[in-house]
Amino acid sequence: MKVQVPVHKNNDYQGTVADLTYQGNGVVKVDDFPVFVPNALPGEQVTIKVTKVTRNFAWGRVMKWQTKSPDRVAVKNKTYIQTGIAPLGHLKYAAQLKFKQHQIKELLEKAHLDKIEVLPTLGMAKPYHYRNKAQVPVKMVRGQLETGFYKRGSHTLVPIEDFYIQDPKIDQAIVVVRDLLRKYHITPYDERTGKGCIRTVMVRRGYYSHEVMVALVTNTHRLPMADQIVAGIVAGVPEVKSIVQNINDKKTNRLLGTKDKTLWGAPEIHDQLLGINFVISPLSFYQINPQQTERLYQIAIDSAGLDGSQTVIDAYCGIGTISLAVAKHAKQVYGVEIVPAAIRDAKRNAKHNGIKNARFYVGKAEDQFAKWQAQGLKPDVVIVDPPRKGLAASLIEATGKMRPQKVVYVSCNPATLVRDIQRFADQGYHVTKPIQPVDQFPQTTHVESVTVLERTGK
Ligand code: SAH
Repeated sequence: MKVQVPVHKNNDYQGTVADLTYQGNGVVKVDDFPVFVPNALPGEQVTIKVTKVTRNFAWGRVMKWQTKSPDRVAVKNKTYIQTGIAPLGHLKYAAQLKFKQHQIKELLEKAHLDKIEVLPTLGMAKPYHYRNKAQVPVKMVRGQLETGFYKRGSHTLVPIEDFYIQDPKIDQAIVVVRDLLRKYHITPYDERTGKGCIRTVMVRRGYYSHEVMVALVTNTHRLPMADQIVAGIVAGVPEVKSIVQNINDKKTNRLLGTKDKTLWGAPEIHDQLLGINFVISPLSFYQINPQQTERLYQIAIDSAGLDGSQTVIDAYCGIGTISLAVAKHAKQVYGVEIVPAAIRDAKRNAKHNGIKNARFYVGKAEDQFAKWQAQGLKPDVVIVDPPRKGLAASLIEATGKMRPQKVVYVSCNPATLVRDIQRFADQGYHVTKPIQPVDQFPQTTHVESVTVLERTGK
């Protein structure tokens, strides 16, 4: 049967926004056919123009609002929504927090797990200026070198100076670097030709340490006028501790290459989380919202119910942030992580902090779990903090066989969390506390949460 698509490109339609997708788009139904509309909130009556049609859904743009949602905030700068810097920037913060809580609830309901409670999302008192890291593309726009952000779903650069969700000191440093690149006529990389020098400017700033790292990501091995640029950064960014050139000469969307060259100062900066010192290299993964990360980790640690006698596994441990925070409260911690450089940092971080009861392993978590299980390791608590795709089924099975009392699941994707909760049930593990969402990424659609599962029965 051929289904007729009821909307046509460039036509206008009127409707009421029925829902907000997990990506933050409003949904307007035209004869039951969904049209996704950015910057449209549930309950609003709108006139939309359809911009793109596929078989199962369409995209549209609001032409006119007949009514506006009481949850709407006037957005000072539309580029935040256009670029995906703040896709929820038009929604009141309290409503953003509800939206995130609701997403987990809805997925649980769909899986017939509606008995599991979800607490209100813990938000920030000041839900902006929180990012401790920026990666900003550099491009030629109308004959001038610009730094900014790409329009959603495109490589069109929108010049931006105030990024709203970044540490303002980072924004200032980016402007200093941009002006120096202009002054010394450094050519931006051109994706089409593969030519040009500067691709990306990355800036990190320690939340407690205030140490700043500036990394210039170049397509070429040589950075012309490097000495002058370095001197300009040192003069213009008083907190700078590290200036690095990162070479990325591949035709790729990846922002950073694998090769670093320290141009000035230290090859790394430092910061603290829960009182533990961390070394941050240009390529290290480090949580970008330190205030909320401390709350998230504290909840994970408290949920684990540690009294110093337990053996803990921290899977997907990155540079060991959770492992080292847990070590004080545990007998022994084992961390596993797939990126070798991260494990190198984790070991260094353990040493710097005088932590002797944490051991780190490079590998796929699922493989290492199989090994640990075969070796007869008996953890009391397993903490997992996987990427968006969630846990491998085999990891959940191996966990079941090692029979820890508790599993603490830190999730950045409610969909895979709910799937994994169901898989844990097959191993005799059930959610014993309400799920706690913690807003790590205000103004964006990302949902982070902590879930506690315990072995019951079996
Ligand atoms: N717990 C850390 C890192 C969490 S991010 C922190 O809070 O800082 C998820 C981590 O999982 C990343 O460091 C990523 O490199 C790692 N990872 C991804 N797939 C993996 C796998 N199959 N096995 C082990 N680690 C993996």
